[in-house]
Amino acid sequence: MKAKTSQWTPKPDPKRELEYAEKLAKMIRYETVSYKGQIQREKFLGFHKLLEELFPLVHQHLEKTEIDGSLLFYWKGKRSDKPLVLMGHQDVVPAEGKWEHEPFSGDIENGRVWGRGSADTKCSVMAFFQAIEELLAQGVTPEQDVYLASANTEEVAGDGCPKLVEELTRRGVKPYIVNDEGGSIVTEPMAGVKGNYAMVGVLEKGQGNLKIIARSNGGHSSYPPKNSPIVRLSKFVVALDKHNPMRSKMNRQAKEMFQNMAPYGPSWMRLLFGNLWLFKPLLVKLMPSISPQAAALLRTTVAPTMQTGSDGLNVLPQEATLNLNLRYIPHQNMEESNEAIRKLAAKFDLEVEVLDAYPSCAPVDAHSDAFQLVESVIQEAFPGLPVIPYVMTGGTDARHFQKICDACIRFSPVVYGPAQMKGMHGLNEYLDTVSLPGAVDYYKLLIQRNA
Ligand SMILES: [Zn+2]
Repeated sequence: MKAKTSQWTPKPDPKRELEYAEKLAKMIRYETVSYKGQIQREKFLGFHKLLEELFPLVHQHLEKTEIDGSLLFYWKGKRSDKPLVLMGHQDVVPAEGKWEHEPFSGDIENGRVWGRGSADTKCSVMAFFQAIEELLAQGVTPEQDVYLASANTEEVAGDGCPKLVEELTRRGVKPYIVNDEGGSIVTEPMAGVKGNYAMVGVLEKGQGNLKIIARSNGGHSSYPPKNSPIVRLSKFVVALDKHNPMRSKMNRQAKEMFQNMAPYGPSWMRLLFGNLWLFKPLLVKLMPSISPQAAALLRTTVAPTMQTGSDGLNVLPQEATLNLNLRYIPHQNMEESNEAIRKLAAKFDLEVEVLDAYPSCAPVDAHSDAFQLVESVIQEAFPGLPVIPYVMTGGTDARHFQKICDACIRFSPVVYGPAQMKGMHGLNEYLDTVSLPGAVDYYKLLIQRNA
């Protein structure tokens, strides 16, 4: 059997591209870096003023609520039984290093908008505001209630979004669909799978930070004792690397993702993933050693991130520490993964402190009406673009909505090629302007088709 091919590529529309790129550029020029533990309300109020200038009709017709710099807008529909929440965060990560275009320049050049936030994720915020601006100009009243939720602490895992969820809970709102960032239109999502694909996030892993502590009563570095703190930590981290205590398994979401993608891949991929009944055990065993990305889809990952020892060149530490960042998978969730770490740590006489942790989210059912609505809107907005439900290894604010919504769908309707994947949180972030009209159309359709 021949491989299927993905047909869709974004269509140039210079006039709309420029109009949207200019709005996005202004949003980029207003620096909205968030820092852990800081509210910075004034800075974000300034950004809201800019939004008001860019999207006047939204501000005239929707009810706006501001909570410590995070935003919630309410657009009353004809009915309220299937509320839609469109999400995207206002804040960005800091921009260090030397950039081709200054990180807050918002330069528009050769079909690109440059700057921090262009891809993550002022593009989607611009696009859903613009979508509503245009629908209002046409005199549209949505069939269902629409909410816009934009937190200002996503990048620092702050409490901006939880406060918005609290407010919606207080109002008794149970969203039918929450559409946040996460997935996107990805070019070559797996090596050998050519073309563009709508990768729609249906499962978000949990996350935890663990501190591993080794203690001793010090001693002199001129006659070091056996198994001093750093030695024990080192043995532990080597053991962790050699005999990973996390179980690999291909859950339903990963399986559906591979099955949906395989027909577009090279022949070996079509053979293996087209016959999972036969090859699944082999794949689960082999994939983690071939690719770290694949491993992350199949098991809880453990990444050593920070270390401390003593303060002196010739001082043995009384306490040495090692930090681990974990991403939990549902089949070995927070408690169980942390326990596996504790068990291993105990062998080396180490203590484990959980600094912060939350479990993986309940997956979105890719066969549910809500998901299928999103799928049909993607097909209408981007004809020929294959839709692939996918397992996300990163975190989003959407997880806070899990308690009031069963369909927290993670999808930004813009094209992320390799440059965007590298640029987000890195150097030289930019977005191709050709992505923008489709993104606006996607949100317009989603609002109108949610009847
Ligand atoms: Zn983001």
